[in-house]
Amino acid sequence: MHPDGEKLMNLQRYDLEARRLRDEMNALPKLVSQLEAAARATVGQRAVVIDLIAKEEALRRRQESDIRDKQEKIARVKRQMDAATSAVQVNAFDHEIAYLQGEIASLEDAELESMERSEELEKQNHLANEAVAAAEKKFAVERERATATIALNKVALADVEARRATVRAAIGEDALSLYDRIARAKGTGMAEALNQKCTACQMLLRPQRWNELRDRDNLDLLTCESCGRLLFYDPARDSPQRKVVPFESIAAQIVRGS
Ligand SMILES: [Zn+2]
Repeated sequence: MHPDGEKLMNLQRYDLEARRLRDEMNALPKLVSQLEAAARATVGQRAVVIDLIAKEEALRRRQESDIRDKQEKIARVKRQMDAATSAVQVNAFDHEIAYLQGEIASLEDAELESMERSEELEKQNHLANEAVAAAEKKFAVERERATATIALNKVALADVEARRATVRAAIGEDALSLYDRIARAKGTGMAEALNQKCTACQMLLRPQRWNELRDRDNLDLLTCESCGRLLFYDPARDSPQRKVVPFESIAAQIVRGS
């Protein structure tokens, strides 16, 4: 194991933690503004319903005014009829009254239909109010949570950056630049080798590489031959129950009869 192996592993932990903290701090304001937009959208949907309710009310006011006009006209015609002098005139006034009464009946039907629509719209308005309240509450709660999390992350990030700087200062220049190069390309520079596997890419290490890695006298930085990450081996984490059996070909297994 290279003398800086463990420090590089620690550096990677700090790098990943710093990245997680930064990603979270960047993502939270976006989440909050999405929730704000969602709350605004519910207010917009409610405004459409409120507008439709107002239109129905205006429509009914016109219908009622029309009905009153026609009722007054009927009263006028009836007064004229009282003064009529011939059966023809009486007949003509009767026709006019019947016609006006027919129009009043259609207006009353239309008014009933409008009231039914208003009832339905009031139900929608009630649901829209609930949706607005829920969306605004969610926005307020998440905004507060985001503010608190960002403040905590800032403190945590300063701590992680300090630890990161300390561990970087203790790592040799060559090992550090190699780690940085791999980390930039792969996202992570180190991978723990456990039970003969690279835990980053899950590929099995060749027995020779595995033996080199476990050799205490070997001070080289070894990389995974599949993903290219630097390998770290911790004997304390290598479970004795799961010791890897030596590689055996399928042919050999068949010969052995297993
Ligand atoms: Zn690998």
